[in-house]
Amino acid sequence: MPASKSELHKQAVDPQLDLNKLRGLGPKRREALEAMGVSNQRELLLLFPRSYDDWSTLTPLSEVQEPGLYTFRAEIANRPQFSRRGKLSWLRLRLWDGVTSVQATYFNQPWLREKFQPGDSYIFHGKLDLSGPRKTTINPAFISTDLADQLGMLAIYPLKQGLTQKLLRAAVDQALAQGLASRFTDPLPAQARQDYGLSSLDYALHKIHQPQNPYELSLARKRLAFDELFLLRAAMQFFGQEDLTQLEAPALVTSDRIKAGMRDLRESLPFELTRSQVEAINDVLRDLRQSKPMNRLLQGDVGSGKTMVALFAAAYVGLAGGQSLLMAPTSILAEQHYATFQPYFQSIGLKVNLLLGSTKAADRRSLAEACQSGETSLLIGTHALLQEDLHFQNLVLAITDEQHRFGVKQRANLGSLKQTGGQVPHRLLMTATPIPRSFAMIFFHDLDMSIMRDMPSGRQEVITEIASSQDLPRVYARMRAELENGGQAYVICPLIEESEKTDWESAETTYRDLAERVFPDFRLALLHGRLKAEEKDTIMEAFVDKKIDILVSTTVVEVGVDNPEASIILVKSAERFGLAQLHQLRGRVGRGERQSYCFLHSDSDQDTAQERLQTLVQHTDGFALAEVDLKMRGPGDFLGTRQHGLPSFQLLNIYDDQTILREVNALIDQIDQWPEPERSQELDLISCALSERYPHLERGLVL
Ligand code: ADP
Ligand code: MG
Repeated sequence: MPASKSELHKQAVDPQLDLNKLRGLGPKRREALEAMGVSNQRELLLLFPRSYDDWSTLTPLSEVQEPGLYTFRAEIANRPQFSRRGKLSWLRLRLWDGVTSVQATYFNQPWLREKFQPGDSYIFHGKLDLSGPRKTTINPAFISTDLADQLGMLAIYPLKQGLTQKLLRAAVDQALAQGLASRFTDPLPAQARQDYGLSSLDYALHKIHQPQNPYELSLARKRLAFDELFLLRAAMQFFGQEDLTQLEAPALVTSDRIKAGMRDLRESLPFELTRSQVEAINDVLRDLRQSKPMNRLLQGDVGSGKTMVALFAAAYVGLAGGQSLLMAPTSILAEQHYATFQPYFQSIGLKVNLLLGSTKAADRRSLAEACQSGETSLLIGTHALLQEDLHFQNLVLAITDEQHRFGVKQRANLGSLKQTGGQVPHRLLMTATPIPRSFAMIFFHDLDMSIMRDMPSGRQEVITEIASSQDLPRVYARMRAELENGGQAYVICPLIEESEKTDWESAETTYRDLAERVFPDFRLALLHGRLKAEEKDTIMEAFVDKKIDILVSTTVVEVGVDNPEASIILVKSAERFGLAQLHQLRGRVGRGERQSYCFLHSDSDQDTAQERLQTLVQHTDGFALAEVDLKMRGPGDFLGTRQHGLPSFQLLNIYDDQTILREVNALIDQIDQWPEPERSQELDLISCALSERYPHLERGLVL
């Protein structure tokens, strides 16, 4: 039998693995490591370098044709020239490799004057600049030529303040020297390792940290990337949620009366449904007529009109005498849905109720009764609904809006919504985060999909522009014009961690600057994650009610709030966000008649950052963007894994590693067919490996 969750939690981490067993890691540094999710030596080894400094390839200077980072052997050709001005000092010297020379400059390292003697040779490692008449380099690192045969690749780790590369490398080195790499459970069957040409786990864990050359690194990477996907797919396959195919849901029967009600509903709409909406509604209604529980993901870009699909589905259920639940991630969204549904439901003689965290106890009781008696056809609320001890007379359908915002736990609870008779409700999950096919294959293979590709007609495309800090006055002028014209604005700031000394702009600083200096004559509010849920709701409501002109916010605002009057959004330090997320943010405007604007502020001069933002300027289609995003960043961040409870891939790139994808799928299928006891033994191994590598992973992680 696979280890159950409780058994897994019993496998406490060996005290031998404490970080304080490693030299050089005092309490401060351990704290910094902890902030990076590293609380013991095992997790330290699982913190893979984000890049490498390659000292392993020596390049003759004459072969250097393009600027870049190089390792080269050279001789000190002249006596270094030393200069000083105030606090600044610099040392100039010529390096020569027998054929070509390089001008090197060292800033503020006066002691090198004594060290570098003409005629001495070193191995240098630094960026070569070719823009001038001769090659130049600034502050290149160097080591003695005696070490030439030990040159390898130096790991570069993601760092927090208080840590250095040197420190991390030394700590990892100690852990490796003590043989920790060999103490990880290797979940791969030996045959599979042979079939797919994978290194041992021990080797891979060593070489991912200390590769001697790019080839060793590629072996390590391949093995560990394989493991990432293998363990995740195994977790889903063998320890995932209960198998819905074994369960039954109520199958609805259509009648003329129901058809008439649906027709009335459609005719009472102020607009024509889009083709996508009609198709999605048909998908859902077809599923509802089956006893096989529906498990359908409805994907539609922001503003594509997913709410209508929920409305028709719930109306159909109601007309057929069943009940539905609709869960939204925030109360403000739940209230908006209630306001949308209420008149339509009333017109076809159905009852809708709203249940929020703030609902009074007496109202709760009567609500509970209305659910139990079957009087309520649709109950709308936040996920707080799941904590309620609600009994339904005939719960047929559970709808989750903005699925990507719900945590794993809440999702699990949803799965356990059962009713008398042991039937489960049909499930409809709605998300505005487009999920690329390659991603869906891994994570959502057990879900049916409805994808809405067309938008309601008459929408104006949001005009998107990139703006540097220098452009901000112009952006603010545009904003002022919008506000004076009755529009509203969002200003989004990247999240900051107080302890981190980064250049990220704090939402608070931005808020103060805008309120005091730029827009003193307008009403501003600040929304951030540290506010209580009710405080957030109050602010959002005030914004929707036009009592606030500019909402300065961290990304908490991302969720699908509909404020048609908001016509301009400025995202500060936009390069900090994922494309999918920026697209979501942009979807906050352009929801009404007004021409809307999205300004992506960025001072990053990195090509990739500019390129990413440029794709947003070019594409307004969320699906196209999601593919681009996934290609650029890998899936780790794609859905915001923290919210999902999905482990992020550090190494796997599902675009580049398509072979691994196929191999892993084949292997998992194979293992599933193994006879006992081999199958169970393998599952035990997988289970151990999972708890070692993803100690915080929750089981049942599939939607
Ligand atoms: P989302 O898919 O982002 O949840 P909504 O359901 O909130 O989108 O719809 C966005 C807006 O479009 C709403 O104001 C809604 O009334 C409107 N809408 C929905 N369907 C149509 C349609 N077929 N034609 C015109 N407007 C529509
Ligand atoms: Mg929505």
